[in-house]
Amino acid sequence: MNSAPAPTWKHAPGVRASLALLVIACILPVAAVASFLIVNFYTKERAQLIEHTVSRARAVIAATDHDIESIQLALQALSSSSMLQNHDLAGFHQRASSLVGKLRADSIVLIDTDGTLLLSTRRPFGAPLARLGRAPLLQRILASGQPGVSDMFIGPVVGKPICTVGVPVLRDGAIVMTLNAILTPDRLLHVLSEQKLPPNWRASVLDTQGRIVTRSHDMAKYAGQQVNATLRQHLASASESGLATRTLDGQDVYVVYSRSTRTGWTAVLGIPSAELTAGLYNTLTWLVSVTIAALGAGMALAWLLGGRIARSVQALVAPARAVGGGERLPIPPLHFREAQQLGQALHDAALSVQRARADTRESEQRLALAANAAHLGIWTRELHSQDIWGSDQWRALFGFPPGQQLTLSHLLAKVHPDDRAAVQRTLNNAMHGAPRYDMEYRVLLAGGEQRWIGSHGSVEHDADDRPLRVRGVSLDITPRKQAELDVLQKQKEVTHLSRVAMLGELSGALAHELNQPLTAILSNAQAAQRFLAQPAPDLAEVAEILADIVDEDKRAGDIIQRLRRLFSKQDMPPQRLDAGALVVGVIRLVRNDLINHGLAVRAELGEEALAVDADPVQLQQVLINLLMNACDAQPSDGVIVVRVARDGDAVQFSVIDHGAGIAPDMLPRIFDPFYTTKARGMGLGLSICRSIAAAHHGTLWAQNNPDRGASFHLRLPLAQVEAGGSAP
Ligand code: ADP
Repeated sequence: MNSAPAPTWKHAPGVRASLALLVIACILPVAAVASFLIVNFYTKERAQLIEHTVSRARAVIAATDHDIESIQLALQALSSSSMLQNHDLAGFHQRASSLVGKLRADSIVLIDTDGTLLLSTRRPFGAPLARLGRAPLLQRILASGQPGVSDMFIGPVVGKPICTVGVPVLRDGAIVMTLNAILTPDRLLHVLSEQKLPPNWRASVLDTQGRIVTRSHDMAKYAGQQVNATLRQHLASASESGLATRTLDGQDVYVVYSRSTRTGWTAVLGIPSAELTAGLYNTLTWLVSVTIAALGAGMALAWLLGGRIARSVQALVAPARAVGGGERLPIPPLHFREAQQLGQALHDAALSVQRARADTRESEQRLALAANAAHLGIWTRELHSQDIWGSDQWRALFGFPPGQQLTLSHLLAKVHPDDRAAVQRTLNNAMHGAPRYDMEYRVLLAGGEQRWIGSHGSVEHDADDRPLRVRGVSLDITPRKQAELDVLQKQKEVTHLSRVAMLGELSGALAHELNQPLTAILSNAQAAQRFLAQPAPDLAEVAEILADIVDEDKRAGDIIQRLRRLFSKQDMPPQRLDAGALVVGVIRLVRNDLINHGLAVRAELGEEALAVDADPVQLQQVLINLLMNACDAQPSDGVIVVRVARDGDAVQFSVIDHGAGIAPDMLPRIFDPFYTTKARGMGLGLSICRSIAAAHHGTLWAQNNPDRGASFHLRLPLAQVEAGGSAP
């Protein structure tokens, strides 16, 4: 089973913190947009108010101009009166006095061109009057011949700030005097009050020097005073504008002004700064309060809701853990549908897990029962630690007591020393990619008992496809192994018997071959006897005869030796054999038999020396068998070819005859045991030959020749090249 790695999570915020963030993320942008809109709205409002106030300042200055103009018109009318032309100053005084009230002037004065006060309605006619000197207004009127208005100054008669409106008095086209109306600050106050400004607004009319001509508040105190330097500088730079400043009575205002082109006077209206910004600040304060309240309420709700969600989720943690352990905890009451669904899912999962566990237990018991019945030992080996878990049955197989901690080295110690390397090799292969394996090996139990074990293992991998553990079963296969060994033994015996039978067939020819050296020995011995019977035997001749006898005896000995080897019941260990020498030896053994049949053998051995690793006796048996079959199939006077050739990394021995060949439908059957077409045949030869070929990792097969006869081919692996040569 692949175990997924434990999850690694970064520290995550809780539900409460997340909900609080959500509240902030919802409310703050709305508040920011609202404040932007509010500021925007107020900026426009302010601009409109200022615009409107400029119009009102214009109206104030226009009204002032109009007032002064009407005074000038009245004065001009008065200056052209006949009394003045006729020097009737007494009459003129009376007339002027009657006009003062109408003009709402403080007084009317007549001034000589050199500044002498000729008449003042403030004084009874004839009373002595002060000399004034040439005031700026007088100079202007004399210079321009046009009516004018003065700036504010302290009146010499009234001793208070006043201004005058003057017109020239002409006689015969020349200016002889000026007629002036003296105006006190309250005279022009109405131009301000007519605007009906809000009571806390400040309004005033300033002369060309920035002195207050009239003022909406505390006029008596401030009339004739100059406004502050900032405002004066501003007034000098533009005829109409606005700026934030402070009034003489210390109020912060935004002033808007407009200057008359006619008099050079300026109407100034001051809007209290507080009024301009108070609305904005109030609204912003309100917005901030609402935002804070909304945030507070949102946070409280987030806290409340977050708490409930968190509690619902936390309440499911213990039941969820219990599911893993196969337990079933009661699901507490939950406040959210999703949590309830999760609770339901956990409840269902717990039920499934319990059921699955019960099923697993059941199948484990069944498996254990089956394993016991089949005498199977079950085991698991962790590849990283090589720790082994094994069922009791498995422990019994290897003779391990129950409860002993086991690793691979414990197991290997039990394996038969001859099998240990092979077992180790198979286990290593499992570590390096082989998905499963089967192996058979012996274990040594206490008391020297030997047991054959068959093991089947299957490798499990982790998520990255790395081998993790091997799981498998082991079985006592001693009885089967014993049976197999018995069969092998029997097979060997059959092979031997067949060999003996084969040699029986050959024995006539062998007796004939043995006859030759024996006859030669006999005649040589008789010749020696004859030589020795002579009075003076030629000993040199006798020695020569004895040497011949020794040679012939050796030859006979060789023949007997070869036969004995073939009769021998013992298998020989594989030897390095030269293929050509082997064939030559076999031909020598059967040559006489072939000659008896009137057949010849031709060996085609090729140039290359080819070697195989094999049991020489068994290989001779195969070749003799094939040659004798060929001999049986071949009519007299034929030639049998024995060929040795290299085929890639193998050596191929071919026995080719020119007999009747094999019926095609019989080709697949000739290697079956007891298949024979011969009257005295046993039908075991080819079947034994094939099993010998297989034991040597080779193959044996037959085919019919294209012209006539059959060929039998034995293919064996070529021996690995190594220095030291080969044994025939
Ligand atoms: P046996 O020689 O005792 O019959 P074998 O197993 O050696 O047993 O041969 C089985 C049969 O195969 C033979 O009976 C024969 O019919 C056939 N056979 C073997 N070799 C040849 C051959 N060279 N040509 C034709 N038939 C052959």
